[in-house]
Amino acid sequence: MTRHYNFCAGPAALPTPVLERAREELLDYQGRGLSVMEMSHRSPEFVAIAERAEADLRELLAIPDDYRVLFLQGGASLQFAMLPMNLLGSGGSANFLHTGIWAKKAIAEAEHLGYPVHVAASSESNGHVRVPRQEEIVLSADAAYLHYTANETIGGLAFDYVPQARRPDGSEVPLVCDMSSSILSGPIDVSRFGVIYAGAQKNVGPAGLTLVIVRDDLLGTAVPGTPTLFDYRALADAGSMVNTPPTFAWYLAGLVFQWLKHDIGGLEAMAAINAGKAGTLYSAIDASGFYSNPIAVPNRSSMNVPFVLADEQLNEAFLAEADRAGLLNLKGHRSVGGMRASLYNAVPAAGVDALVDFMSDFEHRRG
Ligand code: PMP
Repeated sequence: MTRHYNFCAGPAALPTPVLERAREELLDYQGRGLSVMEMSHRSPEFVAIAERAEADLRELLAIPDDYRVLFLQGGASLQFAMLPMNLLGSGGSANFLHTGIWAKKAIAEAEHLGYPVHVAASSESNGHVRVPRQEEIVLSADAAYLHYTANETIGGLAFDYVPQARRPDGSEVPLVCDMSSSILSGPIDVSRFGVIYAGAQKNVGPAGLTLVIVRDDLLGTAVPGTPTLFDYRALADAGSMVNTPPTFAWYLAGLVFQWLKHDIGGLEAMAAINAGKAGTLYSAIDASGFYSNPIAVPNRSSMNVPFVLADEQLNEAFLAEADRAGLLNLKGHRSVGGMRASLYNAVPAAGVDALVDFMSDFEHRRG
């Protein structure tokens, strides 16, 4: 059996020890004679799995007690709709930082549902190569919250600071963050946020699970008519079990949390590994003259590294040869082309070293 290096942007690489553990337990979970997939979500076995996963996540991210953790379905994209539904119950507008394709989708969904939207700052004029600075952010007077995308997965643009969300009169509003492609890549101060959410299929686990971390005071403020399954209050009260949750994805996420705690040693250690991987790849790109990445250095993502070849005619050859060398899924997003290497937690440093060696070899032969 060979496991290649997988640079996919999502669903992304999972840690091999996690998959091995899942394989060991697949047919017979801890002597119960059945698979986790075949258990009732209300069985003591599954409830223990669910509680353990939440406790481990809380420990990893140091989530304060006044936050609830929800394990949901629908992907990060459903949160684009659930956020205004849950947070605009008392009126006001949804404010956004526009930093690229994912921020834009969040804005478009709020507009699609008919909610008032205000773009408080945008990096569109600079081609999304650097994030708006704090002093460029101007909320509307009626802002109910400020939404931003910590890491633009397609653009490879990442915030290097946590924005402050203040209306012109100085009053603070909840900060809402899409952390789909950066959660668990390093420590964060959860207390700065009203809501953090993430699709699981990058750093958390397999597709089909969505994490929402929401401060208690933001429960119970949904607009009237919000479906029960979209209502944070109802979901929190039911322990994310209003209906059948994505049990196997929840279990696998729990195994990833265990791996982060015990094999990696927590999120400080993970951040150091990730910084090393990203440093290796960006240095190779900057030193080459053949590969390039346009993002302002402080805003370069450590998770998603887009780059282009000086000669686009070589794109197909680059991808085909990389694939043959066991370096998978380097093709950039269909909307932007070029290449993208996603360096999520489960991509080992050895994989980045192999990629950099391949890139150098390709440049010397074909560049
Ligand atoms: N936000 C970001 C930053 C993403 O990268 C993605 C998926 N790539 C999404 C939202 C949408 O996630 P999902 O497919 O889980 O709806």
